[in-house]
Amino acid sequence: MTGDGSSDSLLDLEFAYTSYSDSCRDLYSPYYYCRRPLGHEGVHAAGFGSGRLRWHHEPNHPPHMLS
Ligand SMILES: [Zn+2]
Repeated sequence: MTGDGSSDSLLDLEFAYTSYSDSCRDLYSPYYYCRRPLGHEGVHAAGFGSGRLRWHHEPNHPPHMLS
């Protein structure tokens, strides 16, 4: 456990229980958006297993386009 709320097992749970409309949706790319709950702490994350991505919010990121 890293203690920052971004362990793989926790993310799996968050993704499973967070619906699209309740998710953060910070964009990493046009194909990946944050699937953690809105207002989560720590890094943004998407994907499963070896495809897991984590990223910090970039001020230059475009606004949410997937509303
Ligand atoms: Zn996020």
